[in-house]
Amino acid sequence: MSEYPTGTLMAGKRGLIMGVANKNSIAWAIAQQLAAQGAEIAFTYQGDKLLRRVKPLAESVGSDVLLDCDVTNDDQMDATFKALADRWGRIDFLVHAIAFAGKDQLSGSFVESTTRDGFKSALDISAYSFVDAARRASEIMNDDGAMVTLTYLGSERVVPNYNVMGVAKAALEACTRYIAADLGPRGIRVNAISAGPIKTLAAAGIGSGRHMFRFNKAAAAMQDNTDPKGVAGAALYLLSELGASCTGETHHVDGGFHAIGMPQEGPLRESLES
Ligand code: NAP
Repeated sequence: MSEYPTGTLMAGKRGLIMGVANKNSIAWAIAQQLAAQGAEIAFTYQGDKLLRRVKPLAESVGSDVLLDCDVTNDDQMDATFKALADRWGRIDFLVHAIAFAGKDQLSGSFVESTTRDGFKSALDISAYSFVDAARRASEIMNDDGAMVTLTYLGSERVVPNYNVMGVAKAALEACTRYIAADLGPRGIRVNAISAGPIKTLAAAGIGSGRHMFRFNKAAAAMQDNTDPKGVAGAALYLLSELGASCTGETHHVDGGFHAIGMPQEGPLRESLES
């Protein structure tokens, strides 16, 4: 029995999810939710080490389509989308949940720690890869298809240590709007989900992560951390007919953290006043 709401919203829909590294990945929560609503899913992974982790997860949602793909490798990107076309002909959705910045770029002063190579690689892997994947996916996507990418509030406001990744996420959100405009006339919708902090491998790479989780919990409107199930539910909405007419949007799923200018009375205020 799935712990995600079951139904038929994605019945007959096929698509690609990029960015499952393990069971804690946001992309895996999305995969489980889409599968619980009847979707057929293909997964990308990076290298044999990850295949060992991703294969059993994929099998548990009935998928045997696993494609080795580093998004910086054009040959692997070509092979991934060719394999999808060969297997299914057309697809209905794309989930892009990929980001990377070197650990040395993710702590301390932004202006001191950001190198040319670090900047290029963060922007390439975390923002350009969505443009590239969206172009390739659109060539085989049905005209009522949809795409979703994952972003974070560090794009809009300064979050300590998030540094160049905040710049990459700002680019990713802008890319989302431009892709939405290009593909809109075909009926393809393209949106970003801005998730609050969730304990994953990627989040572990950010300096002072523990403080980020504690602060988020104390300051968010819901005074709690973000539930990956909420992110998965938002992805279901945006990728299914429920999301009709919604495109070019950055949708926050962060317990209302983004809405707060000054925290309510509560633990955070009390700690500041003591
Ligand atoms: P995750 O489980 O570590 O997923 C990140 C994925 O990106 C991994 O599968 C990773 O594969 C992949 N990746 C990195 N470089 C790649 C490359 N060159 N080619 C192909 N794949 C590559 O962490 P996550 O938190 O779920 O991250 C998913 C998305 O959500 C990211 O865009 C992240 O920025 C975003 N997000 C996360 C949070 C959070 O708090 N966790 C909040 C908001 C948004 P490897 O492991 O092989 O490198």
